[in-house]
Amino acid sequence: MKHLLEKYDTPAPRYTSYPTVPYWTDSPTLDECIQSLDTYLSPKDSKLAIYLHIPFCETLCTFCGCNTSITKNHTVEEPYVTALKNELQLYTDRVSSLNGKNLSELHLGGGSPTYLSDYNLKSTIEFILTKLNPAEDPQYSIEVDPRRTRISQLKLLQQLGFRRISLGVQDFDPEVQRLVNRIQPFELTENITLEARALGFDSINFDLIYGLPKQTLSSMQYSIEKTLELKPDRIAFYSYAHVPWIKASQRLFTEKDLPEPTLKRDLYEMGRSLLEKEGYREIGMDHFALPHDKLWKAFNTNKLHRNFMGYSDSKTDVMLGLGSSSISETPNLFFQNQKLEMKYRKSILDGIIPILRGHKLTQSDQTRKQLILDLMTSWQVKVPNEMKSHVFHFLQEMESDHLVHWQGETLTVTEQGKPFLRIVAMAFDEKLQLSQPTKPVFSKAI
Ligand code: SF4
Repeated sequence: MKHLLEKYDTPAPRYTSYPTVPYWTDSPTLDECIQSLDTYLSPKDSKLAIYLHIPFCETLCTFCGCNTSITKNHTVEEPYVTALKNELQLYTDRVSSLNGKNLSELHLGGGSPTYLSDYNLKSTIEFILTKLNPAEDPQYSIEVDPRRTRISQLKLLQQLGFRRISLGVQDFDPEVQRLVNRIQPFELTENITLEARALGFDSINFDLIYGLPKQTLSSMQYSIEKTLELKPDRIAFYSYAHVPWIKASQRLFTEKDLPEPTLKRDLYEMGRSLLEKEGYREIGMDHFALPHDKLWKAFNTNKLHRNFMGYSDSKTDVMLGLGSSSISETPNLFFQNQKLEMKYRKSILDGIIPILRGHKLTQSDQTRKQLILDLMTSWQVKVPNEMKSHVFHFLQEMESDHLVHWQGETLTVTEQGKPFLRIVAMAFDEKLQLSQPTKPVFSKAI
C-alpha cells in the first residue's frame, strides 16, 4: 500500500457536488434562482428539503473546516434567527410554489445549531412550519455538540419532530482532544446518546475523524472501542482535511504533528475492521451503518444519495439553504449565500435575498454530476461511449495497479482501490482537468 499512497495521495475534491465549488463559473441571476425554485417545486409530488446554517460556536476546534463564527456572546442569536425567518419570508414572497409546500426534510447544521437557546430554536422551527407543511414521515435532523446541548433541548427537538441527531465526537482520546482544543469527556457523549435514545431518536450518528494531530493506532483503537460501547446507528469516519491555506487555525499544528499517509490509512483500516467486527458495514466513502439504519437499506437498494451534507438515504428535488454560507441546489443550479454572517444579515435587512455566487449546470455538467454520484454511492459507474476512451486513458495506470477494473462499459473500483475513490472520480471532472491551478485548492485524497 505504501507505494500506492506515494503515487496517488494527491489533492482531490470530496465531490459533494459537481462542479465543485471552486470551479463554479456561470453564476445565475437572482431571477434565475427564483425561476428554478418555482419550476422544480411546482409539481405536487416534488420534494423539498431545507438546510439551516447556524454559524456560531463558543470555542474553535483547531481542525475545523466549517464556516463558523466563534463567540460566547449569545446576544448574536436573536438578530441571526430573525434574519433566517426574514430570508424564508423573502423566498415565500417570490416563489409562489413554496407557500404551503410539503417539507420532506429539515437539516440544521453549522457551526453548532445547539448553540441556540431553546426559545430561539423553537421559534425558528415553528416559523418555518407556519410557511411549510410537514410531508408524510418528514425527516428532521440536527448536528448536536454534546458540550453545548441540554436535556431540555433534546426534549424540545423531539417534540418538534426531530428523530435524527448527529453528535460531533471526533476523537475520545483526551490528549488528541487537548491538541485540537475540543475537551469532551466520554461521559458527556454517553449521557447525550443515552438520553436521545430514551427520547425516541431513531438514528444517532457519531462524527469521528482520522488523521488528527498525534493520533496513533492505540489512541484510535481507544476511540473506536469507546464508540462501540455506545453503538450509534451510523458513523461518519472522516479523513481530516488539512487545508491551512484556507483555515488559519490549522496552522497551529504542522504537518509533522499529523500522522504520515501510511499511518493515516492504517488508522482508517483499523477503525473499519473493528467496526465491521461489530456488525457495521462500510457505506460509500468514510461512512458506516448498522443493518437497521436507513443508510444501510439505501445502499442495498441502490438508493444512496450524496449532497453537500454528505451521504443521505433520500433525495429531494430541491434543497433550499438558509443562513450564512448555505448552499441551495436544484436540478439545474447551485447557489450559495453570503459567507460572512454580518454581510448575510445586512443583505436581509436591505430586503435582498443574500446570494453570493452560484453555477448554472450545463447538460455536460449534469451528466458528469450523475456519473460521479453513481461512482461515489456504488463504487461503480456505467461510462457513456463518448467518454470511455478519455476515462480509460485517465485511469490506465490505476487499472494496471488493480485499483479499478472494466467490464464492458462498467468501471468498478476494486477493494484495493477504495481509498482512492476521489482520485477515480477525477476522471469525470472536466473542470478540474481543464484548469491549471497554481495554488493548492483541495486537501489530499487520503
Ligand atoms: S468542529 Fe463543530 S464545534 Fe468545533 S469549531 Fe467546527 S463547527 Fe464549531
